[in-house]
This record gives sequence, structure tokens and C-alpha cells, in this order.
Amino acid sequence: MQILDGKATSKAIKEEIAVEVEKRKAAGLKTPHLAAVLVGDDGASQTYVNSKVRACERCGFKSTLVKRDGSCTEEELLEIVDQLNNDDDIDGFIVQLPLPKHINEQKVLEAVKREKDVDGFHPENVGRMALNLPTFLPATPYGIMQMLERYEVPTQGKHAVVIGRSHIVGSPMSILLSRNGYPGNCTVTITHSRTTNLEELTREADILIVALGRPEFVKADMVKEGAVIVDVGITRVEAPETEKGYVIKGDVAFDEVAPKSSFITPVPGGVGPMTIASLLKNTLQAAGDKPA
Ligand code: NAD
Repeated sequence: MQILDGKATSKAIKEEIAVEVEKRKAAGLKTPHLAAVLVGDDGASQTYVNSKVRACERCGFKSTLVKRDGSCTEEELLEIVDQLNNDDDIDGFIVQLPLPKHINEQKVLEAVKREKDVDGFHPENVGRMALNLPTFLPATPYGIMQMLERYEVPTQGKHAVVIGRSHIVGSPMSILLSRNGYPGNCTVTITHSRTTNLEELTREADILIVALGRPEFVKADMVKEGAVIVDVGITRVEAPETEKGYVIKGDVAFDEVAPKSSFITPVPGGVGPMTIASLLKNTLQAAGDKPA
């Protein structure tokens, strides 16, 4: 069994990006600039956005954080998106999800200019991904693909089972793994809350991608000997005895599943850090060869 170490892999990618940024500066190219928009006071979202901004700074990027409280209207948010779309210094930006209930998430995501959509959520970019055209891949699935590649995990002809069909993880993951290329060329089964024979399917998986958001849902008897296990889940579980009052749990019962697996991602330190590294890669790509 080998750990797919997202923390170390993401560190290596960030170091490569920092070198790239220095080279760009020396060549008279623009410093990549990422903006993040945070609406409301969701604790987890604040933590994610802060990590993204910190990661930008460490790689030599410029970063801008636009914060609004939960009373921000859809109209005000669309106005912010419009400003960021038209700000030539901003190469890419993200609107942190989830948004407060009174804001139409899809409308906001569609308002983001395709060329600055470094989260890869715009319908046009999702279509380009499905057609294997150059685009921004959604950060979490992109991070998983990079991790599979860097650890040289065999994927061709393998049966990949994805649990979860969300637009940000499960669905794009199923598309990427079935594309013609490496990592890819898998035979993919996508499962969800209405799947009736889930355990039968997971037991057939050579590669199991778990993204449903239920702590320790996947147990040892649900996986095949030698399977590759990618745990996307992040759930805060109350733990009053700890300093923070909670611990982070993945969707896989790591201790019992790990001994059966060939490769496995831990939580924390697996998929999470890779998501941030991918966002930075997308922002670097968005900066292209624009002059300083
Ligand atoms: P979501 O809630 O949007 O989707 C969950 C999916 O799981 C749905 O498609 C649903 O049909 C499916 N599902 C629910 N119960 C099921 C069951 N019993 N059997 C089979 N399928 C079932 O979730 P999401 O946004 O895709 O996130 C999933 C998890 O991944 C969450 O814990 C989230 O916090 C985490 N996440 C982590 C990262 C990261 O960077 N590591 C990024 C995004 C999401």
C-alpha cells in the first residue's frame, strides 16, 4: 500500500509554480493575479479562501480578496463579477461556494468571463473539458488527475467507480477518467444517492473515487483487494476534546480500508491540498504570456 501524499505533491507543484513566476518576472511578463470573492460567514469557506490567498502569496502571485457579508444581494454580487471580468490586472478569479440561499449560484457562475474562470465551472468550460479541448479543469478533479499522474498510477482499461455526481467533483471526475489519454482511458461507473447496488459496484472498482460527504462511509468490505482509493470527503465532526472543537473526517474508513488498497489518499493531506495547487496552476495558465 502506498499513500498518495497530497501535501507533499502539492508542495512540489507550488515550488515549480514559484520558479515559473520568477522566470516570468525576469522575462518581463505579468505577475499572475488571482482574486477570490467570499460572501457570508461560513467558517469552512473562510478557511478555504484564506488558504487559497496564502498559497498565492507564497508562490509570488498577487491576490485580492473581496469580502461581503451575507446580506449581499445577487445584483451586488453580479456587479462585483462584472468589475473583476473587466479588470485587466486580474487574470483569474473564483466565487467561493456555497453562496447564500437568496443568490442564484448558476447565474453567478455563468456571469464569470470564460477566460478568467479558473475554477472551471462555467458551462462553456465544462463543455470544453468534455470535448478534451484546452480549458481550465475544475480544481479538485484536476488535483486528483495530477496526483494519479505523479504517482504513475495505472489507469488504462481500469474500472473506475465514482461515488457522487456533483458538478464540482463527481461528474467532472467521471468525464476526465473516461477521456482518451493518461490519466484516463478508464471504464467509468458513476453512482449517486439513487444507486441501488452501490456496494456491488464499489467491490468491482479498480479505482474508487469517493465524493459524497459522509464520514467514513466506505468500509473495508466495500472495496476490492488492491484497489486505488481516492477520498475527496471533508466533513467537520464534533470533537469537544480537541482545541478546535472538531476533527476533519474523510468519506473512507482509512484504517480498515488502507491495508486492502494499492494506493490511498489520506484525509487531511490528500485531495485537499491538491485542489489549491490546481487553482494556482489554472491561474498561471490564465496569465498566459501577458506582458507586465
Ligand atoms: P454534494 O453534496 O454536492 O454531492 C454529494 C453526492 O453524493 C451527490 O451526487 C449524491 O447523489 C451522492 N450521494 C449522497 N449519498 C449517497 C449514497 N448514500 N450513496 C451514493 N451516493 C450518494 O458534494 P460535493 O460538493 O461533491 O462534495 C463531496 C464531499 O467532498 C464533501 O465532503 C465535500 O466537503 C468534499 N469536497 C472536498 C474537496 C477537496 O478539496 N478535498 C473539494 C470539494 C468537495
